[in-house]
Amino acid sequence: MKKLLFLISTLFLLYSTSYACIWDTSWLTDWLTNCVWPIYNSQFTFWIEIYIIWFLTFEFILTKVLAYLNTLNWSDELPTELKWIYDEEKYKKSQSYEKEKHKFSIITTSFSFIVMLLMIIFWGFWFIDAFLRNYVQNPMILTITFFALIVFLQTLLNLPFSYYSTFVIEEKFWFNKSTKKLFFIDSIKSLVLGYVIWLSLLALLVFVYNKLWNNFWWIAWIIMSSFSLFFMLFYSTLIVPLFNKQIPLQDQELKKKIEEFAKKVWFKLDNIYEMDASKRSSKWNAYFSGFWSKKRIVLFDTLIKDLSQDEIVAVLAHEIWHYKRKHTLQMLIFSIIQTWVIMYLFSLALEIPEISLSLWAKLPSFHMWLIAFTILFTPVSIILSLFWNILSRRNEYQADEFAWINNEASLLQSALKKLSLNNLSNLRPHKAYEFFYYSHPTVLKRLAFLEKFKKVW
Ligand SMILES: [Zn+2]
Repeated sequence: MKKLLFLISTLFLLYSTSYACIWDTSWLTDWLTNCVWPIYNSQFTFWIEIYIIWFLTFEFILTKVLAYLNTLNWSDELPTELKWIYDEEKYKKSQSYEKEKHKFSIITTSFSFIVMLLMIIFWGFWFIDAFLRNYVQNPMILTITFFALIVFLQTLLNLPFSYYSTFVIEEKFWFNKSTKKLFFIDSIKSLVLGYVIWLSLLALLVFVYNKLWNNFWWIAWIIMSSFSLFFMLFYSTLIVPLFNKQIPLQDQELKKKIEEFAKKVWFKLDNIYEMDASKRSSKWNAYFSGFWSKKRIVLFDTLIKDLSQDEIVAVLAHEIWHYKRKHTLQMLIFSIIQTWVIMYLFSLALEIPEISLSLWAKLPSFHMWLIAFTILFTPVSIILSLFWNILSRRNEYQADEFAWINNEASLLQSALKKLSLNNLSNLRPHKAYEFFYYSHPTVLKRLAFLEKFKKVW
């Protein structure tokens, strides 16, 4: 009885004090009216900034939680399901590669999160905007110089991290083949190329925004979609040559085998190239780009060196199947729809000046809108990227179905095994991590999927 009385009185005490503290919000209102609102243009601006900070933090926490979950699948012993791919020693190496990358990504992501947060809270974007307004009046030039400066500072800040990743981590695991000279030339080239492409796109968008305001969103949508179509068609012929040499495949025997396969599945293929990827990294890859007569297959020289000819044909058959199942077209359509959603929402945001002012600027401007919108858009962009990945993983299985033809399943299997070994891939990501980030099913799942085709034959 005494205990019960004690419990009731404690509960009553807790209730009454919490009532006074929580429900009596006059102190909060006072604080807001006297201290907070005067700093902001309006209460609405304040709430937008709170959302911006919240979304940034939310995204940061989400990525950290997912990365942490992934570490739960680490093990010192070679797991049974990997025994047909890894041996003890290679597995240990892949685990320490994974750990190293994990530690490094915690540092880099935390760093960029803190920089972004400080830029928002301590008026960083406003400062750059106000500084540039002293010299530039034209809104289009203002936006371009603003982003040119931001991107330049960002590249400068990222450079040490990128250097460490290439020359310490990748070097330690024998992946890096790049030289310091090549690394710096690459960095400068990427910066200049980014300037040329993105700043011209941006200039076009600001122009449309200022001159054709009422029709902004659909004209911007057409401009953005044309840009992505253009780069899908010309990526391999315009961008890649700036960094790598692509020459027609030299090995005639291999070329003949690939052409024979293409002919068998009625696939017109004129452009098979090899690329000198080995000057930067020993990792393997192959890609397919373009449409119609522009389509070409590019093999990394590292891949040609280490896989057997039949395995290479199996890898390419997978790529050809992507095309035959119209995955490239599907991705293009999806990206056009995605751009439509983004531009429509952005045009809605452009009608709310408080969004632009939420980063402390005194006058609304296109670039401030763009930065604030990009962050506010985070939840939608997470959902869109989930869709992308789900679609892409489904497409990977479909492309593997070519193994019906010729009983190529074992060849693709052995190529995938070699690929995982060579790239020290993490074959056991956490389910949640895989769901969020993996654009391809794990090799383990693909191997099991291919196993089905072997049984049929
Ligand atoms: Zn694929």
